[in-house]
Amino acid sequence: MTGGVFWYNGGNIDDKSCSTTAKNDYGVQKKRRNCDMSMTKQARKVKRVFNRALFLPLKRLLYDAGLVKGSYIGPDGLVRLRKLEIYLTNGCNLKCKFCSHFNPYRRGIVATETLVTSMETWSKKVRPKKFGLLGGEPLMHPDFPLLLRKARECWATSRLIVTTNGLLVAPKGEALVDVLRETSAEVLLSEHLMDEKGRATFAAARTIFENAKIPTTVIPSASRWKEYYSFDEQGKPLPCKSRPEASWTMCGPNTCFNLTNNKLYRCSILANAVCGWQEGALGDEWKRTQTYTPLEPTATADEIVRHLFLMTGPLPACSICPETIRFVDARQIATMEADRW
Ligand code: SF4
Ligand code: SF4
Repeated sequence: MTGGVFWYNGGNIDDKSCSTTAKNDYGVQKKRRNCDMSMTKQARKVKRVFNRALFLPLKRLLYDAGLVKGSYIGPDGLVRLRKLEIYLTNGCNLKCKFCSHFNPYRRGIVATETLVTSMETWSKKVRPKKFGLLGGEPLMHPDFPLLLRKARECWATSRLIVTTNGLLVAPKGEALVDVLRETSAEVLLSEHLMDEKGRATFAAARTIFENAKIPTTVIPSASRWKEYYSFDEQGKPLPCKSRPEASWTMCGPNTCFNLTNNKLYRCSILANAVCGWQEGALGDEWKRTQTYTPLEPTATADEIVRHLFLMTGPLPACSICPETIRFVDARQIATMEADRW
């Protein structure tokens, strides 16, 4: 991606009457495919059922026969991934309802040593096309520049993508721009606050990246928000009680491979729920996530391929996810959490 700001054209799920001439809140023309979500949902479901029932078993068969090994493992012995993510913080400076990282219920940063060890260890095993540094809010990590440089050192040719809600971009100023430039990193600027002050802060962050010619993609996240769990009377998150096959068939993020505590998870939702429960941030209802075992640093290339790409059935822990993709009107769901840090 070259420098400049790209607008992700996310449609608003609640707007059934949009047409190709309609504009979203950002003045960006909506695409027709975003207008009729019932069609999209059906098409996605058929595609996924087809994929799981036919393509995955076929891929597994071919892999077992040694015919497609090269499409997963490069000549350098590293497993090729489309995308890999790492979270630099567990907490966040915002509190968004339905945050899929559970950051409103978790606290703190991830230790620098843990993050460095994770990147160094797994860079000897996998090569992602895109490597994402997220949180919480990654810019809250005091060692963010060091961690970004480490990521570049580990994966010299990968696209490095930093996802931020933008609130700390202005306070970090030139130092942030410099390290992004030095590492050729890109930015995913995700908007959550919809009040006047929040939007002004976001706009200022966008301008900083635009002026510095840092490749930036703007995501109006709050206009298309997924609901992953419900809440009890005290406002604590409660997992779904789904049929694992049904959630597995519908799930979107099961290609968001995730590096947490030097272990490789096949999906970021699981990584967050497993760790959130272990930290005591999530209640007993989430204990069933512990049935999932992520890959240890000793995993071989073959084990990585089988775990990430060739699993043909659902995991019991998938019961925490909804059976259908549910969108909520997320406007005003985010609140400032300045006291959290
Ligand atoms: S900005 Fe909101 S959605 Fe993003 S990590 Fe923070 S609380 Fe979660
Ligand atoms: S826990 Fe299972 S259903 Fe949920 S996102 Fe991960 S792989 Fe998909």
